[in-house]
Amino acid sequence: MGVSSVSSVVDTLRLTAEEAAGLVERKEVTGAELHRAYLDAAAERDPELHCYLRLVDEPNGDGVPVALKDVISTHGIETTAGSKILAGYVPQFDSTVAARCKAAGLPIIGKTNTDEFAMGSSTENSAYGPTRNPWDPERVPGGSGGGSAAAVSAGLAPWALGSDTGGSIKQPSALCGNVGLRPTYGTVSRYGIVAFASSLDQVGPVAKNVRDCALLYSLIAGRDERDSTTVELPEPVRLPEGEDLSGLRIGVPKELNEAEGIEPGVTTAVQNAIELARSLGAEVGECELPRSVEYGLACYYLIAPAEASSNLARYDGVRYGLRVDGESYREMVERTRDVGFGDEPKRRIMLGTYALSAGYFDAFYGQAQKVRTVIAREHAAAFERFDVLVSPTSPTVAFKLGEKAANPLAMYLSDLLTIPSCMAGLPGLNVPCGLSEGLPVGLQLIGPQFSENTLFRTGHALEQAIGFDPVPERLR
Ligand code: GLN
Repeated sequence: MGVSSVSSVVDTLRLTAEEAAGLVERKEVTGAELHRAYLDAAAERDPELHCYLRLVDEPNGDGVPVALKDVISTHGIETTAGSKILAGYVPQFDSTVAARCKAAGLPIIGKTNTDEFAMGSSTENSAYGPTRNPWDPERVPGGSGGGSAAAVSAGLAPWALGSDTGGSIKQPSALCGNVGLRPTYGTVSRYGIVAFASSLDQVGPVAKNVRDCALLYSLIAGRDERDSTTVELPEPVRLPEGEDLSGLRIGVPKELNEAEGIEPGVTTAVQNAIELARSLGAEVGECELPRSVEYGLACYYLIAPAEASSNLARYDGVRYGLRVDGESYREMVERTRDVGFGDEPKRRIMLGTYALSAGYFDAFYGQAQKVRTVIAREHAAAFERFDVLVSPTSPTVAFKLGEKAANPLAMYLSDLLTIPSCMAGLPGLNVPCGLSEGLPVGLQLIGPQFSENTLFRTGHALEQAIGFDPVPERLR
């Protein structure tokens, strides 16, 4: 089939992954042609957006291509986690999620930009330059998985994988108008994922709609003997259908919906979605998560840096990527880490090392672990009365590049609403619920452990009712 006929059936901006799979199945396009169509789209739009750190030119499968965040190890393809310290590191093995994508016939189309070691909320902390938001290139795509989210919304990949420690799938999906799932902790293997905070890190899908998101999740989830924290899914993934929400009990946690700093336009869009849910048959009630929201962020910024300081100890100039020589072994390690790490990982290593140091351990790390248990219990209590909790995903729509870059605390507040449920190990789905000032607003749906099917059903029903157009206005 010639190039022109491919482009007439493949509009990468609009095509869903499910539709793309249908085209391949009916032999209307080949996998290679599909791959080429996305590469062409990237050639056109990626110079401006910088979603990709590298593209794979040769199709390596006959299915629907997938983009992978650059914290996901890929055999033979450089994997840097957005850091200079991993420049030139080419894994000799596939992460389990990359292997499962390949086994399902999905060619890897490229590796997407990320804040360095997934530490950030805007993708501005990438050592390779920021990604821009396809809705407005003056604005950030969110982070840390801004590359994956922007690639999907700009039609440079039909779907993508990200990783989420405290919001890095949900928040960029919100800011770019995508559907993104942070799965229940333990449902997706972390084998071969560049570790940030191991008790929180989860890989998950980013897509144009809920069905695509569920489909990609079904391909990567389940027990992996290489990651002992994984389990078999208690029930198979069901692709959602229909718009009926009768019988569903939706809780609206006051603190997550009324937190300081939530923009009025965000609140309006979220309330509209809640009203729609009611009209689709759901029962809606108020609930409380007082301590989760009050202490969640502080607790996260002890536990995540503590784990990061330990995980990042392995970058010593000997085993991976960059080495800067010195007079002695010690000097070589010092220089390598000084040159190789950017400011944010250094900040986290210092925070984490401090929180773990003798004399402070109980007061900081130990106390944060106890608060984490309180957060999990508060959520569990809410799920005795409700099936799903809803809130905005991000307090704001996409902000301007540079707006928060100089103020780490302002940046950390971007994740105020996503972090508590991550601390509790719970799944969360972002579903676009409208626009504010011409930019996407994301609705966060949180469920108990292993409730992904309920989140998909709720998200799909709302998505149909809302009718959000995921193609950025300026690209239509
Ligand atoms: N923005 C949060 C942080 O900087 C979360 C990042 C993530 O989920 N990887 O830690």
